[in-house]
Amino acid sequence: MTSESLTADVPPTGTETCCHCGRTTTAPVEVRRIEAADVPGVTLYACPDDAVLLHPGPIPGECGPGR
Ligand SMILES: [Zn+2]
Repeated sequence: MTSESLTADVPPTGTETCCHCGRTTTAPVEVRRIEAADVPGVTLYACPDDAVLLHPGPIPGECGPGR
């Protein structure tokens, strides 16, 4: 291990904009998935602070096919 490896920047993880407060968060929580017939689905993210305030909707993987 080198000293550089200890001080190097953390590799960028996915950052998303919180759908509640509009801030960019490095720890997005998936709160809702909007599916539309003719466009790719849109996933909404919230920052950890707001995620607890929002009532999460179903996200991929939580609902079985055909419910
Ligand atoms: Zn937020």
